[in-house]
Amino acid sequence: MKYVKKLVCIDCGEEYDAEPDKYLCSKCDNEGILEVEYDYNKIKEDWSIEDLKANEDLSIWRYLPLLPVKEETPRPSLRVGWTPVYDSDVLAQELGLEEIYLKDDGLNPTGSLKDRASAMAVVKAQEAGATTVACSSTGNAASSLAGNVASMGGKMDAVIFVPERAPMGKVTQLLIYGAEVVSVQGSYEEAYYLSDGAIKKWDWYNRNAGINPYLVEGKKTVSLELAEQLNFEMPDWLVFSVGDGCTIAGAWKGLYDLKQIGFIDKIPKLIGVQAEGCAPITKSFRTEKPLETTSEDTLADSIAVGKPRNYKKALNAIRESDGTMVNVSDEEILDMMVTVGQTTGVFGEPAGVTGFAGLKKLVDQGVVAKEDKVAAVITGNGLKDITNGKKAAGEPLEVPPNLELLEKTYKRGDRF
Ligand SMILES: *Cc1c(COP(=O)(O)O)cnc(C)c1O
Ligand SMILES: [Zn+2]
Repeated sequence: MKYVKKLVCIDCGEEYDAEPDKYLCSKCDNEGILEVEYDYNKIKEDWSIEDLKANEDLSIWRYLPLLPVKEETPRPSLRVGWTPVYDSDVLAQELGLEEIYLKDDGLNPTGSLKDRASAMAVVKAQEAGATTVACSSTGNAASSLAGNVASMGGKMDAVIFVPERAPMGKVTQLLIYGAEVVSVQGSYEEAYYLSDGAIKKWDWYNRNAGINPYLVEGKKTVSLELAEQLNFEMPDWLVFSVGDGCTIAGAWKGLYDLKQIGFIDKIPKLIGVQAEGCAPITKSFRTEKPLETTSEDTLADSIAVGKPRNYKKALNAIRESDGTMVNVSDEEILDMMVTVGQTTGVFGEPAGVTGFAGLKKLVDQGVVAKEDKVAAVITGNGLKDITNGKKAAGEPLEVPPNLELLEKTYKRGDRF
């Protein structure tokens, strides 16, 4: 918190003290989204790349000067962040590129990038004096919150609202972590409103990333890390799948912070990728008109958000970085699950690989050039949603336990 100056409304510029439970701009009818502002000059004086390199904490907390938390607040014991970056020639070739960096955020403790925000929520909830944290989620925000809360060893509780279409893998995960799970018979939108009402009624801490300004600060650690892992030499493009918009907004904020304190000199152009069946932010990006709510018609459940909360921050991020947006079909997403899996050994969930599918499209269209340096993030682990994994990969070879029949099957060329 040492370097946090204030919260600023991205709509009207009103400033607020950085209280842990200040979520939205009161002046904008509690609709304006707030952003955390830091004293970059002071950070620059106190913190260097050498200091960072000497830090042995391989988690998101190694970036403490750029995080809005008090040093003494207890943190979840799960190790969040410091996920690997792979440089894959074969995947690059498949995508039509010379070089691609893949950051596997599915290797976070509960299997998605959302751990970065949930770890932050657990810390901020304590600073706000709350013991119950709640959210509505298509799955990953929920399971990450449940896991991070569980790691506090009984000190806190999680209440989770999920839409009934949330994949069983994810719902099971939160039950295992001991969360109170409310499966709402309705859309994500309806689950969101129910959680909002309950949070206000029972005064719980709000882990809805669209409105809680601190959660984007957790998510930004993905680009702080990526920058450090690439030795602060930034790629030309950085790609994310987009649902609510907080992830790409956070990624941009991290890059902006690093530029302000002089750790990097260039911000990559951000590419936001949505699913064709649910692409309200891409539409607003293209038409430059206010966002219209859409249906949520995609198998990539983690980005099926018909009414995104943080679309303004997401659009700012993409425009400020001179980036672009693109949509992909469910079929392209399923194909990319297989492509990424076969070329890198990384199993991403549908929304986890959607960015790569969009990237491929933009390379085909000539928007991204073959020689451009690109990084993209796998945002969630494929084991969470094996139903779609199966759709993408098909069935295994079935044979009786008999070598001759196995040989015949091979020869028929059924599979190999
Ligand atoms: C949440 C999520 C996203 C998108 O993040 P938003 O902040 O909603 O834009 C992408 N992929 C996965 C796996 C996610 O869980
Ligand atoms: Zn405002």
